[in-house]
Amino acid sequence: MLKDWIIYWFVSLRKTLRRLWVYASFAVDTFLLRRDRPYLFILVINDKCNLDCFYCTSKNTGQYDLDYAAVWSSLADAYSRGHRALVITGGEPMLWQSEGAAIGDVIAYARELGFLDIAVFTNGTFPLESDGITFIVTIDGTRATHNSIRAGTYDTILGHVRAANTRVVASITLSKANAQELDPAIKEIVATRAFTGITFNLLTHNPDIVARYGISGEERLRILDRIWRLKRQGYPIILSRAAYLALRANNWKRPVKQIELFAGKRLFTCCRDVGNPEICRDCGYSSCVEISKALEGKPSAIFELMKAK
Ligand code: SF4
Repeated sequence: MLKDWIIYWFVSLRKTLRRLWVYASFAVDTFLLRRDRPYLFILVINDKCNLDCFYCTSKNTGQYDLDYAAVWSSLADAYSRGHRALVITGGEPMLWQSEGAAIGDVIAYARELGFLDIAVFTNGTFPLESDGITFIVTIDGTRATHNSIRAGTYDTILGHVRAANTRVVASITLSKANAQELDPAIKEIVATRAFTGITFNLLTHNPDIVARYGISGEERLRILDRIWRLKRQGYPIILSRAAYLALRANNWKRPVKQIELFAGKRLFTCCRDVGNPEICRDCGYSSCVEISKALEGKPSAIFELMKAK
């Protein structure tokens, strides 16, 4: 028993020291040497999805379903370019399978390569069985609104989150369908006591979709102010003061060169819409803003990112 505890303690200490070493050298490269050192690799592993959310037009086309070889080589390449943080997304990444491998094997391989922080962005409708990673699970509002957008899946998802043996963060995509009930949605998510934090995106999509379903102009500012007010009241929203102000003024530096996204066997800087100024101009990916501000050395954003690990 004592021997097991000593081994566990030693392994944990080694992991912590390694993480400190890697992020300290990242800070030296970024802040002192002013190098654009890669930070976050986003792997779009598939576009297969079991849901049909009204604002998503990029599912079940088949053009982004990667096979085993593409997944393995993209992860190895990303690691060798310097990435140490990884987000796996889709489609629904828990559905991914190729040559007998599934998402758990991808996570194990990423760990073996040396990725330090691994997250899987999922709709939560499948059991969240990996430990030592972060699951980011979409909750699109109050129970009733989420169920109307996401095929009545709220209780199933909550069951999986409660059974998870690891960190789970809720993510809300804010659109016309749920923005008006932001306060009750946040309070309901917190009341479940199942999530360690809440992140959000302002619906970011092609201009037609945003015009129909998104939030813009004064309304966008009002929503951001409400989110910030909730954060100040103590709700566990992942948003720094620096990122809030930058989102509000929409003046943050983009694309973020230290983020790379691999989709459909193509590598993009920041995200797939990097070549699409109409979308990029009104980007509402709050985590992208957070990373951009942290890389500028804003203490509140660095603190928020460290907390989110
Ligand atoms: S829309 Fe632009 S700024 Fe936002 S994530 Fe994509 S490339 Fe980056």
